[in-house]
Amino acid sequence: MNARVLVLTGAGVSAESGIPTFRGEDGYWRNLDPAKLATPEAFAKDPGLVWEWYRERRQRIRNAQPNPAHKAIAKLAQHAQEFLLVTQNVDDLHARAGSPKGKMVQIHGDIFVTRCSRCDFSRHDYQHESEDIDVPRCPRCEELMRPGVVWFGEQLPCEELRRVENYLEDGPCDFVIVAGTTATFGYIIDWALRAIASDGELVEVNPEETPLSQSATQRVREPAALALPRIVDELVISRSSKL
Ligand SMILES: [Zn+2]
Repeated sequence: MNARVLVLTGAGVSAESGIPTFRGEDGYWRNLDPAKLATPEAFAKDPGLVWEWYRERRQRIRNAQPNPAHKAIAKLAQHAQEFLLVTQNVDDLHARAGSPKGKMVQIHGDIFVTRCSRCDFSRHDYQHESEDIDVPRCPRCEELMRPGVVWFGEQLPCEELRRVENYLEDGPCDFVIVAGTTATFGYIIDWALRAIASDGELVEVNPEETPLSQSATQRVREPAALALPRIVDELVISRSSKL
């Protein structure tokens, strides 16, 4: 398929696999607002509580399965000549659906990474989580370890940011798909608009109107798991027949 593609995904894509979003009642945990738990302040105040929440989330993700939206994106990655997926999701459902790591950027981090809050030590805690330890300590410097995710008010990781910038600088995209995100963050809007440049197509898949809707060339008001398999199939077939 002769096309350069960028896909941006958010919590709406994983919601259909049973991963609660931070918005709405589903996201609440013990009557606590996730937007207040996912902060450096909450961790400084009560790291044990924050870790407890993250362990429950990790467990929920381990038990979840990728849905047709994750699978459709993996299929698109396989067919497009050039492809990058930028996800705001910290779960591993895109990877488990088959999206290759080399074509994926987790811009808000990876929930299965545990990293030191002082030095650069980090490890992947998918299988061997020390569930018995309230708050893990860094084996190198003894400081508290934290989940490897980007919290509210924190900077995006430099290396991941660089990979997105490199892809955008390499040339305009024929297709940009923005799925399951309300595009609240300015950088999501910015990347989508820069990627389509002057004549790329911008497909928005989201049940509700978002700040990006007015710039979209196609607006699909359906859940991602329903719409994406169809959109990807149409794209792969129509673009391949033009070759
Ligand atoms: Zn350390």
